[in-house]
Amino acid sequence: MRVVYLNGSFLPEEEALISPFDRGFLFADAVYEVTSVIEGRLIDFDGHWERLQRSLGMLKMGVPMDRDTLLDMHRQLVSRNGIDEGLIYLQVTRGAADRDFAFPPEGTPQTVFAMTQAKGLIDNPVAKKGMKIVTVDDLRWDLCDVKTVQLLYPSLAKMAAKGRGADDAWLVRDGLVTEGTSNNTYIVTDDGEIVTRDLSHAILHGITRKAVLACAERLGYRLVERAFTPEEAEGAREAFISSAGTFVLPVVSINGHTLGNGAPGPVAEALRAEYIRVARETAI
Ligand code: PLP
Repeated sequence: MRVVYLNGSFLPEEEALISPFDRGFLFADAVYEVTSVIEGRLIDFDGHWERLQRSLGMLKMGVPMDRDTLLDMHRQLVSRNGIDEGLIYLQVTRGAADRDFAFPPEGTPQTVFAMTQAKGLIDNPVAKKGMKIVTVDDLRWDLCDVKTVQLLYPSLAKMAAKGRGADDAWLVRDGLVTEGTSNNTYIVTDDGEIVTRDLSHAILHGITRKAVLACAERLGYRLVERAFTPEEAEGAREAFISSAGTFVLPVVSINGHTLGNGAPGPVAEALRAEYIRVARETAI
């Protein structure tokens, strides 16, 4: 039986009840974070905490608890559910109120929900096989750096990719790749440079992206933060993605174009190994 957190209480999941008037349900008026757990400890907790505050601020929502209370809640969820490896999902909504486009009065209690998902992260078979990607128009709103629960379009894009025999979609806006449906995207050029989209409203500022770029620097790779086209990606030597739930995963084909020799590339493999090494060292 899974124990979840809801508004100050730890409860069996079937007892966690949320009002149908919750603005998370009616307006997708909510933000979220996903933090990974390895060896029962949290990876990059402070990065997720900082981004949560930023997302809440951009939507003019309050911060419902302080860092130490949030950390303690995450740790309790890990221990109460016996999670060795997996994810913690956290969602904060503007709370429940009669349906109105205007925000509810100040002081309306926010809804805070969190749950665990046990999942093998280190031994991921996709790390050995690699992912097939297709590109899909990026029809999301313009504030993709706010981690809101409006995930319908990424979900449709993922299904469109699956319908075309791929594992995931890379989204394209104005002829340039923004990011994956739930991950940041990278290519490696013929002269060995790692290219990833620069930070702006067009992409989520991935916590894993930041860690991966630090790994790349430590390993001595050359890095460029700039936009790239689907055509440049199709002709890249290799490509990969990053996210809290996947760490680093190699991409072996884009729009049917095989990258390199069709096997996971050495840069992706080296970065995945380094990311896991550092995560083990720094998880709290
Ligand atoms: N981009 C999008 C659209 C995402 O949804 C995610 C994660 O869910 C990421 C990037 C990767 O972010 P992070 O590394 O913080 O998990």
